[in-house]
Amino acid sequence: MIPRRIAAILACPKCKSKPVIGKTVFCPQCECNYEIKGDVPIMHIKTDRREIEKQILRTKSAVNFTNFTEALSKRKDRFLLSSQYGDFHGTTTLARFIYRIGKMLYPPAPVINKVIARKRGPLINKFENGLILNVGSGDDCTHERVINFDLDLLPGVNVVGNGENLPFLDERFDLIINQAVLEHVKKPEKIINEIFRVLKKSGYVYVETPFLQEYHGFPLDFQRYTLMGLENLLSRFEKIESGVCAGPSAAFGRIFREYIASFSDNIYIHQILKVLAGWIIFPLRYLDLWLNRKKYAHVLAMGFYFIGQKAARSKN
Ligand SMILES: [Zn+2]
Repeated sequence: MIPRRIAAILACPKCKSKPVIGKTVFCPQCECNYEIKGDVPIMHIKTDRREIEKQILRTKSAVNFTNFTEALSKRKDRFLLSSQYGDFHGTTTLARFIYRIGKMLYPPAPVINKVIARKRGPLINKFENGLILNVGSGDDCTHERVINFDLDLLPGVNVVGNGENLPFLDERFDLIINQAVLEHVKKPEKIINEIFRVLKKSGYVYVETPFLQEYHGFPLDFQRYTLMGLENLLSRFEKIESGVCAGPSAAFGRIFREYIASFSDNIYIHQILKVLAGWIIFPLRYLDLWLNRKKYAHVLAMGFYFIGQKAARSKN
């Protein structure tokens, strides 16, 4: 059974009309059926999904794996790389053992992001009794009131689908979160337009995108944004504020790790070098508590955030 508050706002991703919900989600308009797994509706347009799958498989067959878990995953048929989310089904015992040891030895991230607690937290609290959507949530269960939306059925995801065709009725949400997602999508403008459509008038968006960050295919990675680029991408919204969420030390730390690791093509040595470099560089992240406030932090920042509002009189 799909929870009532989600069933009330679902739309056919193709024609955006209100579907009939029974054992499946059925759209009478275009006669499409969408399956329900447990209490999660799988709202993929068939042709859309096939296209994404093809693209992911193409990427997975290339040799540019920088992620250890990717190299260990035997499940080439999985839609996303489930081992990143603790699902080791289909991996060898040795691979699992190495992964666990690797995880124990893994250094802290070279990034400190205070904006999540200082800016995103209060926004979520503000709309606690409203409707909040996290587009591209991954398995990040921010808050029990947040509706998590992702491309795949990961732990904590409430609705599965493609952000380029959001399966929700117009103007339903008070707040939409979109963090570290737009770099992974082929047509970011299309997702932004969809977010705009399903956001209520006067509703808020909270967006984060990377600027100076290494290639990180999860599994696809298409682009980066300067602060100006992010503001331009979100120009349909009225800007409340924007700025650095991960600073110059974070950028330097992550690039340093990858730089050291790049000396070896062997995935195991590559990963060991990355771990060693990570332990050396991570304390530098505390400098960002000071550097992020500097005038030129945006020149070398790892990533930016944007908080915007849909104008009260806007048209979809
Ligand atoms: Zn339809």
